[in-house]
Amino acid sequence: MQFDVLTLFPEMFSILDESIIGRAKKNKKIDINIVNIRDFSKNKHNKVDDTPYGGGAGMVMMPDVVYRAYDSLENKENAKVIYMSPQGKKLNQEKVKELSKENHLIILCGHYEGIDQRVLDKIVDEEISIGDYVLTGGELPAMVLIDSVSRYVEGVLNKESIKEESFSENLLEYPQYTRPEVFEGEKVPEVLLSGNHKEIDKWRKEKSLEITKKKRPDLLKEVQNSQIAPL
Ligand code: SAM
Repeated sequence: MQFDVLTLFPEMFSILDESIIGRAKKNKKIDINIVNIRDFSKNKHNKVDDTPYGGGAGMVMMPDVVYRAYDSLENKENAKVIYMSPQGKKLNQEKVKELSKENHLIILCGHYEGIDQRVLDKIVDEEISIGDYVLTGGELPAMVLIDSVSRYVEGVLNKESIKEESFSENLLEYPQYTRPEVFEGEKVPEVLLSGNHKEIDKWRKEKSLEITKKKRPDLLKEVQNSQIAPL
């Protein structure tokens, strides 16, 4: 899967060289191309923003610079262009899965007061928010999107990890345990040591429901249509 990111702060994306996403890049399961919008400024001081028409605080990213950065991308005609924005549709696991079916995403990161509306109207297919709060820039949201979507790209994770985790079937995941068997006097639940996979599956399903009921009862409303009967 191809990600092109348009940003004023390319260095921030070094985080994506670490861990599972870093490995996915090395193994060519995903390709992340970071484009510095500032390189497309024609101003001798590399200016990329200006004061807002109509007055007000802050600076607005200029449409022509953003457009030239977008226009420099290859194969953009078949890509989906996403603007990370607090005004967008809120990202959830369903949206993540949907986006993972795309072959090519172009992710536009705003900064300061945002981006001139005219270039957004011209190039953006969809606005996505990572939550109802305002960040200083779209870079962290873009990394959240890339990380969450990449996990569903073939070969990035093993299929089992994705199948059973939180939000699959609208349930949160059951609790996990590892060695040592006893920690500070607390023992691992007996059933997990039993080797009886039928019983383990049953226990995990029950725990999933119990935890979801306790922490996120809103998710359970949607579980009614699934095969698992609510507690
Ligand atoms: N003036 C804008 C408003 O009130 O809607 C906020 C601009 S914000 C300070 C700067 C940039 O950060 C935005 O253009 C967007 O790219 C990004 N951003 C901030 N919060 C975000 C969020 N919750 N989700 C996604 N992107 C966000």
